[in-house]
Amino acid sequence: MVKETIIHKWAYTGKHAPEFWADLCPEYSDCNGKHQSPIDIKNAKINSILKPPEFNYKPANIHIVNNDLTVLFKVNSDCFVHYNSKKYKLLQFHFHSHSEHTVNGKYYPLEIHFVHKAAKNDLLVIGVFVDTGNKNHFFQEWLNKIPKANKEYKSNQKFDALQLIPDNKTYYLYSGSLTTPPCSEIVNWLVFSKSLTATQYQLNYFASILKNNFRPLMLLNNRKISIFNDKN
Ligand SMILES: [Zn+2]
Repeated sequence: MVKETIIHKWAYTGKHAPEFWADLCPEYSDCNGKHQSPIDIKNAKINSILKPPEFNYKPANIHIVNNDLTVLFKVNSDCFVHYNSKKYKLLQFHFHSHSEHTVNGKYYPLEIHFVHKAAKNDLLVIGVFVDTGNKNHFFQEWLNKIPKANKEYKSNQKFDALQLIPDNKTYYLYSGSLTTPPCSEIVNWLVFSKSLTATQYQLNYFASILKNNFRPLMLLNNRKISIFNDKN
């Protein structure tokens, strides 16, 4: 995910590439931490205590920002997820091409991160993979509105982020970090197992704008990955 306040310039290639993030400035030292994201998701254990997240999203005015590091949809209406007896407010969602997380070593062409906040150091980021397949209707509607580098698009038209949440709520859960500097280890990662689809054309379009904006995989170290199985 991308934090909006940039302390020090960073990038995905060259002298400010991911392998150098921790050394760019003291504020980024967490990038060398032991609970970093993304990870390869494997050997997840069923946890019978887990419950599905409850989505309380509603349509919001469109506001798309291309900041040269990602494309993000800002959310200015009251959209919430209730999870683990807490209320997390949706701030924005954004895209990585290809995916950042993998499942048993498999990358997806695209990953969406829905960034929610309950308190200063308590984030819930929901990851949704997009695979090649049928046309994605959300993308169909908004893809050509994505502005060129370092620009934004705003209007009174409404978009509904719920269109990008899979019906089946089977998910993986683990503790991790922001995948961009300052790489703070404050994220409850909830990654849906069922992917959405988009056409090759739509995925290529994202790839041409996002230009490989993914952080390489980090080590799991001593963390556990849980899975909630949605039987619906
Ligand atoms: Zn992200």
